[in-house]
Amino acid sequence: MKTLYLYNTLSRKKEEFKPIKKDKVGLYTCGPTVYNYAHIGNMRAYIFADLLARTLRYNYGETRIKWVMNITDVDDKTIRDSKVKYSELDPNKALKKFTAEYEKYFWEDMKKLNIKKPDVIPHAADQKYVEKMQALINKIVKAGYGYIKDGSVYFDVAKYYKNYKYGKLINLDMDGFKAGVRIDADEYEKENVQDFVLWKNQEKGDPFWDYKLDGKSLPGRPGWHIECSAMGQETLGMPFDIHTGGVDLKFPHHENEIAQSVIGCNVDQPVNYWLHNEYLLVDGVKMSKRYKNFYTLRDLEEQGFKSLAFRYLCMQTHYGKQMNFTFNSLKAAEDGLRHLKNQVRELSNDEPGEVNQGYKNKFFKAINDDLNLTKALAVVQEMLKSDLSGRDKLATVLDFDRVLGLKLDQVDEDIELPEDIKSFVAQRVEARMENNYDESDRLRVEIEKRGYSIEDTKGGMRVVKK
Ligand code: AMP
Ligand code: ZN
Repeated sequence: MKTLYLYNTLSRKKEEFKPIKKDKVGLYTCGPTVYNYAHIGNMRAYIFADLLARTLRYNYGETRIKWVMNITDVDDKTIRDSKVKYSELDPNKALKKFTAEYEKYFWEDMKKLNIKKPDVIPHAADQKYVEKMQALINKIVKAGYGYIKDGSVYFDVAKYYKNYKYGKLINLDMDGFKAGVRIDADEYEKENVQDFVLWKNQEKGDPFWDYKLDGKSLPGRPGWHIECSAMGQETLGMPFDIHTGGVDLKFPHHENEIAQSVIGCNVDQPVNYWLHNEYLLVDGVKMSKRYKNFYTLRDLEEQGFKSLAFRYLCMQTHYGKQMNFTFNSLKAAEDGLRHLKNQVRELSNDEPGEVNQGYKNKFFKAINDDLNLTKALAVVQEMLKSDLSGRDKLATVLDFDRVLGLKLDQVDEDIELPEDIKSFVAQRVEARMENNYDESDRLRVEIEKRGYSIEDTKGGMRVVKK
């Protein structure tokens, strides 16, 4: 068994990963809030989670990972926008219809990025999970850490702070903290440490779920933080191994998740490893919907880029470092990926041979060093340039691609040829059918002049960008 090292936000250190159970590693990723198209900053978070899930599978076996990604289909933003878009519908139905649309787009994007579907995808607005959230809130209130106020239920941060550490993932300055001041918003800054909402009283015209607590009827809906605590507990049990999200989720979301689970699930440490990806930036500023500086995958496609080029681009910067997005870097990544695919294409005339263990060990060492993908890609190049046989190179690179996820086994279908090249290729097929080899050679020269080369193989013709 290889040793896997991961940077744990809890300890602010790279640590050896030790799973709780031998047979199954539990991984929870905070999923999208489905109120709009996800932007490529969000995509960075999910590419990171996918690379982590693939690395775990590569280490422990394909079936020994349980990856959970929730869908946040009830929160402030989904409710706000669903009411506007489907004002004619019952609010619960409007919310369901509205979020289902954006969830569909989300999975389309995930597919384009070759992100494998997680094993379990709990939806926060499902009655089944809402009941789990309510059960968890009941326990928190019973333990004396939650209280009802004006039809909502809040978590008592002052009391928690007295007995436990609040601020495990980021350093919180609790000096300005005022006990009993409450905040209802799902998202807030760390300057506003306050009692946060577990269950929100229904506002007029909002979707709601029935809830009875202490004999009181509290129609309303869950707060964002309790959603993930309950879904994590229900799908993975407590404690579980790894939790991921972007750095912006450290506070308040993950800090509150920890506090809720410590009290409601009776565990000292709900999650052993917290991993956070840094931001994708544009011109030095976080890409976000709030700043209107975001691109979606569709925007990249409109500019002629393939989604996998963005995946490859993300692999060039360690997930724990900020990454500045530019179209020039995307173009360079696309060229790099094309080059890699051409290298693999040259090998794929043969059946794959044996995976080379020496290079596999080097590759393992790179990815197991907190997902050092730049190093892993350097190992790929070193292996491809080595004196291994073509067949063994092919087997080895395809084995590595279980982690990289660059679809290196599908090199042909990915080439999009320009119209003039397509037309020359078609004419050349015709010329060869008529045994007109002079014409066929002339067309080959035309194709080569334009930066492409053509190979005649058993399976037909192949056009490759040089
Ligand atoms: P949301 O749908 O807003 O809940 O965000 C989904 C995920 O994307 C979360 O893990 C966020 O932390 C992450 N995220 C949001 N913006 C960025 C960004 N600019 N760069 C990297 N990750 C981000
Ligand atoms: Zn979450």
